[in-house]
Amino acid sequence: MSITIDGVDVSIDSVPILGDVALDVGPGSVHGLVGPNGSGKSTLLRCVYRALRPARGAVRLDGDDVWRDLGARTAARRRAIVTQDQPSDLDFTVRDLVTMGRAPYKRVFERDNDVDRSIVDEALDAVRMRSAENRLVSTLSGGERQRILLARALAQQTRILVLDEPTNHLDVRAQLDLLQLVSGLGLTTLVALHDLDHAAAICDAVTVLDRGRVVATGAPESVLTVELIRTVFGVDAHIGTHPLTGRPHIALAPLAGPGTDDPRPLN
Ligand code: ADP
Ligand code: MG
Repeated sequence: MSITIDGVDVSIDSVPILGDVALDVGPGSVHGLVGPNGSGKSTLLRCVYRALRPARGAVRLDGDDVWRDLGARTAARRRAIVTQDQPSDLDFTVRDLVTMGRAPYKRVFERDNDVDRSIVDEALDAVRMRSAENRLVSTLSGGERQRILLARALAQQTRILVLDEPTNHLDVRAQLDLLQLVSGLGLTTLVALHDLDHAAAICDAVTVLDRGRVVATGAPESVLTVELIRTVFGVDAHIGTHPLTGRPHIALAPLAGPGTDDPRPLN
């Protein structure tokens, strides 16, 4: 199960947003997408999960072009998503929300059967939320809510998972917990992350986007260098080995000295 992004261009209202973006996510690997705000991460993920059709180029899931070869339903059986859009109706119970992950396999008004229920049980177990199955989503903490959205994605039983900044607004423990869950799933995963240290901690490979273009792709150690972080993100970095995990560790600081003005607007 792989994701191949091949020469993707996107323009919105004739403003170019992505230019000639290419990257591969190999079977079972966790691939991080990083870049400053507005660099095009969410736009690229929308192309991958078939919410946005590129003007040029293609996204393939296991070799099938998401627009040419897959429909909305078949795409939904191929990849699951955890986006930043919160569920609008918080009056659902946890179980109801996770059960929605079964929709791509059901006909209209078809009821859940025992197989669906046991798949939902497993998804709830995987995120440690089975005991909360009857709670209303509106009563959950931010971390619990993200775990439920992950469970809904797991109930979809796809081998490909796409996540857009899943740790936003979570406290540190919930952030690390969610990242550990995601990296332990064994799924082919493309995840936009704004925290470079998180990307270094959990990703097998990382792609850096800057103003809609790929500036580097590869192993975190070779991509996330002091020079690249200074150029793309405009901050200084110290890169070492995390004393507790043995993974690359990135500590950031403001750029020192003159010449720190970035002509690009902060957005
Ligand atoms: P990121 O997720 O990296 O912060 P986005 O993909 O959200 O970046 O946005 C990339 C650029 O595309 C930004 O300049 C943003 O303003 C622009 N953009 C994204 N979606 C739209 C839209 N629907 N209409 C106009 N501009 C958009
Ligand atoms: Mg985004």
